[in-house]
Amino acid sequence: MNEIQAIALLKECERDNKALFDEIDETALYNTEKVLAAFRECRVAERHLKGTTGYGYGDIGRETLNKVFAMTLGAEDAIASPYFASGTHALKVSLYGMLRPGDTLLSVTGAPYDTLMSVITEKGIGSLADYNVTYKQVDLTKDGDFDYPAIEKALSCDPKIVFLTRSRGYSDRDAFSIERLGKAIQYIKARSRAIVFVDNCYGEFTEKSEPTAVGADVIVGSFTKNIGGGLAPSGGYAAGRKDLVEQIAFSLTAPSLGTEIGSYAPGYQNFFQGLFLAPHVVACALKGSILFGSAFDKMGYRTIPSPGKRCGDIIRSIVFEDPDKLIRFCQIIQSVSPIDAYVLPEPWDMPGYKEQVIMAAGTFVGGASLELTADAPIKPPYIAYVQGGLTIEHIKLALIKCIEEFGDQ
Ligand SMILES: *Cc1c(COP(=O)(O)O)cnc(C)c1O
Repeated sequence: MNEIQAIALLKECERDNKALFDEIDETALYNTEKVLAAFRECRVAERHLKGTTGYGYGDIGRETLNKVFAMTLGAEDAIASPYFASGTHALKVSLYGMLRPGDTLLSVTGAPYDTLMSVITEKGIGSLADYNVTYKQVDLTKDGDFDYPAIEKALSCDPKIVFLTRSRGYSDRDAFSIERLGKAIQYIKARSRAIVFVDNCYGEFTEKSEPTAVGADVIVGSFTKNIGGGLAPSGGYAAGRKDLVEQIAFSLTAPSLGTEIGSYAPGYQNFFQGLFLAPHVVACALKGSILFGSAFDKMGYRTIPSPGKRCGDIIRSIVFEDPDKLIRFCQIIQSVSPIDAYVLPEPWDMPGYKEQVIMAAGTFVGGASLELTADAPIKPPYIAYVQGGLTIEHIKLALIKCIEEFGDQ
């Protein structure tokens, strides 16, 4: 298609999805008010934006950031820290903080995110398996729903933690809505005393509440995704029950020290400001996801979620059924990025992933997938996962290029 036709198709997609866009705007308004309320309540002031050095005893920036995150996420307590090296690290530190030898970890949403599998099961590298933590898994049903009878059976092993992944990860399903998560958590709580732990990566601010509101005991996420707002340079959070967050803090720093220490010389402005921007940026990303879904559907591709449906995370899966098209798609996304637009991404052996992975990530914050990015493991049915976008204009320009390329095929 030529550019004029591509723009016309984009306009059509915008018209088709007006109602969903209105819902997204309403959610962003609600979540912004929630963030502002937390800032107000915690009396955030300019001095909280500054860093400290050394041990960081009494670092009021760190302490206040933790409080603001706890309030925003509807949790008793939180650790919001640049020292989580990634989402995987935040999840790992949290699991190691709460599990002890002999405990069982049960995932009820199928396999956890790819990079977590080694953390849990790979022998000889200091995984949970090496520390004698047993791992069990209940797969989702064929339609991507909770397998309630199988969960009931698995709970009889008395797991210490029941683990749920809110987002789709690299699986061929939609993300769970808070409502569906809540139903599953209620079912689990009625049959078990286990800690309910939700991997909340990619889910923050896509709805008006987080999994803590429907019974999750601990939630964990990454600052290079939704809640970093595009500004946080690294890190992640763990939030939830006070006693559990304390155990996680002991795992992050040292037993008995927890969140009493930790300085961050550059200061906390980007974390506070990122959180403030996050509801708006997530709204842009959600609209982008809907536009990509709608346009690729019109061009004959299957996308998840299906067009017209609201999104439970900021990811759009596009099924290409063809490795060359998949790679071409990622290359187009890279070519309209603000950073490294001249670079041609190729599949590579990425640490922590089984298949080769291609990533288009022309981002300000390295690898930040709240920025417009696309990635894909190179395996059938050749699904691209496209997500993020700090501005709707950037997303639209990228989509126009994609329509020009794929519109006639
Ligand atoms: C991205 C992601 C992770 C891991 O986060 P990294 O920052 O890439 O380590 C874990 N779980 C889910 C569902 C994710 O989307």
